Amino acid sequence: MNHHRTIIEPFKIKTVEPLAMLSRADREVHLERAGYNLFSLPSEVVTFDFLTDSGTTAMSAAQWAAMLVADESYAGSRSFARLEAVVRQLTGCTHVIPTHQGRAAERLLCLALAKPGMKIPSNNHFDTTRANIEFVGAEAVDLVISEGRDPRSRHPFKGNIDLPKLDAFLTENKQSIPFGMITITNNTGGGQPVSLENIREVAKLYKRHGIIFIIDCCRFAENAYFIKLREPGQSNRSVRDIAQEIFSLSDGCYMSAKKDALVNIGGFIALRSTEWVEKLRALLILTEGFPTYGGLAARDLEAMAVGLEEVLDERYLEYRLAVTRYMAEGFNKLGIPTVQPPGGHAVYIDAKEFLPHIPTHQFPGQSLVCELYSAEGIRACEIGSVMFGSFTSNGDFRPSAMELVRLAFPRRVYTQSHFDYILEGMEEVVANKAKLKGLKLVYDPPFLRHFTAKFQPL
Ligand SMILES: *Cc1c(COP(=O)(O)O)cnc(C)c1O
Repeated sequence: MNHHRTIIEPFKIKTVEPLAMLSRADREVHLERAGYNLFSLPSEVVTFDFLTDSGTTAMSAAQWAAMLVADESYAGSRSFARLEAVVRQLTGCTHVIPTHQGRAAERLLCLALAKPGMKIPSNNHFDTTRANIEFVGAEAVDLVISEGRDPRSRHPFKGNIDLPKLDAFLTENKQSIPFGMITITNNTGGGQPVSLENIREVAKLYKRHGIIFIIDCCRFAENAYFIKLREPGQSNRSVRDIAQEIFSLSDGCYMSAKKDALVNIGGFIALRSTEWVEKLRALLILTEGFPTYGGLAARDLEAMAVGLEEVLDERYLEYRLAVTRYMAEGFNKLGIPTVQPPGGHAVYIDAKEFLPHIPTHQFPGQSLVCELYSAEGIRACEIGSVMFGSFTSNGDFRPSAMELVRLAFPRRVYTQSHFDYILEGMEEVVANKAKLKGLKLVYDPPFLRHFTAKFQPL
């Protein structure tokens, strides 16, 4: 019987990196130089880098060891065979196509299968998924349940697809759907999980309408652990067993291995049927590489094979979800509102509610992002009007529906004392929040504003 309340990091550390520690005054200089856009900061002036959980994992000794014994043969690499065996065992899919990351898999699927005017449904499409679908002239359709759009709703599976809506959509559009999708966890919706029951019903609907079902499975292990924790009747199953059932319901999947495969680069497509395989492999050879390496070094394939096993360790997953929950609860205790309930890989602060004195056209999310950096050395990401706001033809500003600030946690990188240190520092951010000011947009690039925009404090 475990009588401890603290969930500890289920690993010890062999290789360490120094942590940058700057004064507030120095950080303010860097912030001004960066035009108040944290994408322009050099990483060595960032103490806690929560920009993304993608590709930022600390790898294990076992992964590094596997990389050293990798077989870098151009064709027929032993390392590919190893990855293929792991993916087959996990997903039940025979055909495994490696890609250099998730969006390369999306590009291949869209180029091979989607045509102008076609539609692809999902709970929420991630932004690279949407971009690849739209690039070939098709439409990305989001059918998440209404609770998934409400930051206050405490629904345990806010990533679920609205089943009646999906049924109606498929009935109306089935002639023009190359494949149907679901994203686990729902990244765009806040890293919220999808229930096993919902995936079962979604699979039935796709099957009934004769549509191929593909899972975007970037965070399949986090999703499977949420199912174990929250879904009635699932607590006694192993996460591997739950994950295998999820995959068994689909016709295939693709993955950005930079998330739950615990690596810095990589991805794959896995398919049950041979139908699309030749076409996809032909495109793969054109832009990614030969089918046994797909744009990666064999050592990357080895690291993925090991990571896909390690991520199913339930002590790791318990710790992983505890980090996010701990930070969300810590923020809430200090009066910092967050999207509820906490998802798998990130905490989302509601900046509109936290800084009600800053109007949306002065970017409350960006103001908070800048203060988190000045005060704590945190690099977070605004997901609000900087990212999604637009100007109408007569120059009026149309704000985003929400003003969120995302803190995405790299896997196995920061420790409990780092998180406690941050929460201590947040007391001061809360005490001084009335003094925070908005920002003025002084450089507005034509596309993807958030990466290169520049601001001035008001
Ligand atoms: C990260 C991500 C992708 C894209 O993967 P990359 O490796 O960044 O190209 C696709 N879907 C989801 C849900 C993701 O989180």
